Amino acid sequence: MERTDAVVAGAGLSGLSAALALAEAGLSVTMVDRTDPRAAVAGKGDVRTTAISLSSRRLLETLGAWAAVADRAEPILDIRVSDAESPIHLHFDHRVVGDQPMGHIVVNDDLKSSLLDRLEGHSDVTIADPGTIDSLAVTGAGAALILADGRRLEGSLVIAADGRESAVRRLAGLRTTRLPYRQSSIIDTIGHDEPHHGLAHERFLPGGPLALLPLSGNRSALVWTERKAVAERIAKLDDASFSAALLERFGSSLGRLHPLGPRRLYPLEMVTAEGFIADRVALVGDAVHAIHPVAGQGFNLGLRDVAALAEVLADAIRVGLDPGAPTVLRDYQRRRRFDSVSLTASTDGLVRLFSNDIGPVRAVRDLGLGMVQRIPAFKRVAIRHAMGTLGTLPRLLRGEPS
Ligand SMILES: Cc1cc2nc3c(=O)[nH]c(=O)nc-3n(C[C@H](O)[C@H](O)[C@H](O)COP(=O)(O)OP(=O)(O)OC[C@H]3O[C@@H](n4cnc5c(N)ncnc54)[C@H](O)[C@@H]3O)c2cc1C
Repeated sequence: MERTDAVVAGAGLSGLSAALALAEAGLSVTMVDRTDPRAAVAGKGDVRTTAISLSSRRLLETLGAWAAVADRAEPILDIRVSDAESPIHLHFDHRVVGDQPMGHIVVNDDLKSSLLDRLEGHSDVTIADPGTIDSLAVTGAGAALILADGRRLEGSLVIAADGRESAVRRLAGLRTTRLPYRQSSIIDTIGHDEPHHGLAHERFLPGGPLALLPLSGNRSALVWTERKAVAERIAKLDDASFSAALLERFGSSLGRLHPLGPRRLYPLEMVTAEGFIADRVALVGDAVHAIHPVAGQGFNLGLRDVAALAEVLADAIRVGLDPGAPTVLRDYQRRRRFDSVSLTASTDGLVRLFSNDIGPVRAVRDLGLGMVQRIPAFKRVAIRHAMGTLGTLPRLLRGEPS
């Protein structure tokens, strides 16, 4: 196949976004996945929804991929965080920091479809026929992905967007740190009697967090995390028993709760790569950091990789540099390391602090929740964090082209 600037391995949310961001930045791109991305979307392979932060929305708007999902994206206006039986809870109101929603809930397949539409309209993007990555060949001047059927996809660099079990990461010799959570998340869509008013609920329970996130109408997306064996048992319950178990944990603030399906189980594990780069390889998304879904930040973190990478590569080609050169890739890693390490650590800390029923730990939690609830400055920081607007952001996340 013809050589392009970048070869993107993986057409999940991160790979599709990376391919589009790089194409918009002026690079030629080849993207490959072991499954046909169109067929995967049509087959409803990914029934999850994703909380897209404000800055991620700005990136998607700038890439022209937001308009097609905007109608079905439900705004998150407020967030309520509660801790098991504790009377203390946190209420985050978006108006504290402005008039924009904190984020939106989108259906993963809707977003993938919109990103694909944009990619298919790009003259400089080739979506290769499906193929499984077999090996990686790096030379002084470029890198090639060799597929199991013998095809060779060549570029100045390879972008690993092939998920938590990334083959490119392994082939590039990057080690990982793994931390199984012994928890699984049950995903379902829930119909309820009462309107949600744009309020997202995060309820911490000893077995794991339970989130109900607003969807259109009287519906919410459920992400219910429990210890593995418990989750497996709950996921198999008939609808009436499932509703009763959910009501017992969540309470009756939304009235009766009806599972609408489809229901799926996702085993959770934290996986982090030792670095963002290798020789002529850059990692993005879950390939470099798969985190617990407790804060709904995994893909938002991946989009921050995509924004930083697109900016570094756009700046490189503007001044005639080789986009796969070590100095360019090192710049990308330098920009991403702190955010990735700090979000991974804080997410893990949150899970450990809240997924237990130990008396003294409960007391510390209550103290912390009470402080954040009472001190406005803490609250503003937490809201901006959820919106993804803290710190110095790459251009795409500010709504500007790379
Ligand atoms: C229950 C749950 C809820 C979540 N909720 C949120 C949320 O609300 N907000 C948020 O920001 N994040 C959320 N996340 C995280 C988010 O879903 C992930 O971070 C994101 O989907 C990762 O996308 P990715 O493209 O990096 O990886 P993947 O989706 O894993 O995509 C990898 C792609 O690479 C392909 N591939 C893999 N290996 C090969 C190979 N050898 N050859 C060829 N192709 C290959 C696969 O087919 C796949 O298409 C959640 C995660 C879970 C589990």
